[in-house]
Amino acid sequence: MHRLVVSMKLVIFGPPSAGKGTQAQKLSKQYGIPQVATGDLLRKAVADKTPLGLKIKSYLDQGKLGPDEVIVQLIKERVAKPDCKNGFLLDGFPRTMGQAKELERMTDIDLVLSIVVDFESLVERAVGRRTCPKCSAVYHIKFNPPMNEGICEKCGSKLIQRDDDKEETVRNRLKVYQEQTAPLVEYYRKKGKLVDIDGSGGIDAVFAQMVKAISHLKK
Ligand code: ADP
Ligand code: ZN
Repeated sequence: MHRLVVSMKLVIFGPPSAGKGTQAQKLSKQYGIPQVATGDLLRKAVADKTPLGLKIKSYLDQGKLGPDEVIVQLIKERVAKPDCKNGFLLDGFPRTMGQAKELERMTDIDLVLSIVVDFESLVERAVGRRTCPKCSAVYHIKFNPPMNEGICEKCGSKLIQRDDDKEETVRNRLKVYQEQTAPLVEYYRKKGKLVDIDGSGGIDAVFAQMVKAISHLKK
């Protein structure tokens, strides 16, 4: 394991169920920076019934994006915490051009890792996804099954299928992605910050590409 002395601010990018969370958890462990996952923060706010959670629940249930100002506020608070001072890994943010502009005002990003996967694989990955409601670990019934069926390897909780991983919601989330988030790929590419990652292979093959891209950054 090689930790970085300087801070490293990464964005992990890609359509829903491309493998962002899976890779972010591995990168976080490898480089010792926290994974800031908007989806997890939002789902937790909903589960805890915080004022923000109540405001956002109906959006999530429909596969829609939450309002920019709510999401931006959530991220601002999160990256201000002490564990983010040596960098962080954004997973699920930014999702709109408005959020990207806000992020730019907030901080300088070093690298955007953009995972590319074809449409039908995305649906298959989403529908087979199982998540741990307690520690947010991510599994797949076929591609990354836990040692004991239905049980989280990390904390022993019973795994669940997320409400927004039902096939119809998945297709809606993919459509929203095409319309609102996909344009950000070109935005970051023009800035010279983006690396394409072929996400069609297995989890370890995808991870190896990410580590390689990050190693170029350090030189
Ligand atoms: P995202 O955070 O982009 O929505 P996840 O990391 O939750 O995506 O991955 C979606 C699903 O696909 C999960 O069930 C995960 O276990 C599985 N998965 C992730 N990466 C791969 C891969 N390279 N090959 C096959 N399945 C994968
Ligand atoms: Zn767990």
